[in-house]
Amino acid sequence: MHEMSLSQSMLEIIQEQAAIDGFRSVKVVRLEIGTLSCVEPEALGFCFDSVTRGTVAEGATLDITKVPGHAWCWSCSRVVDIERHGDPCPDCSGYQMQMRTGDEMKIKELEVA
Ligand SMILES: [Zn+2]
Repeated sequence: MHEMSLSQSMLEIIQEQAAIDGFRSVKVVRLEIGTLSCVEPEALGFCFDSVTRGTVAEGATLDITKVPGHAWCWSCSRVVDIERHGDPCPDCSGYQMQMRTGDEMKIKELEVA
């Protein structure tokens, strides 16, 4: 499952950070998820709970912010926001689009104890 491998890599990042900063538990993990990533926040929360059991991140809450994807529109010659793969340009309704970002997930901040 996609969410399961994401949860595992999040846990690895958190554990590396715990080793550097020396915190003992994580309360909140603030995440940014691109709207093009097809990540289900609920499924991610569920997987995260199960992979973090017995670790510093056990019981941490996920605070997820969805960020729109960006694409370059050749007709408008500028970067526009799009919600889904295959969507037309919101300005000119054209399909001459080149994806820039939107399918990434990153940890913005950890609230630790
Ligand atoms: Zn356009």
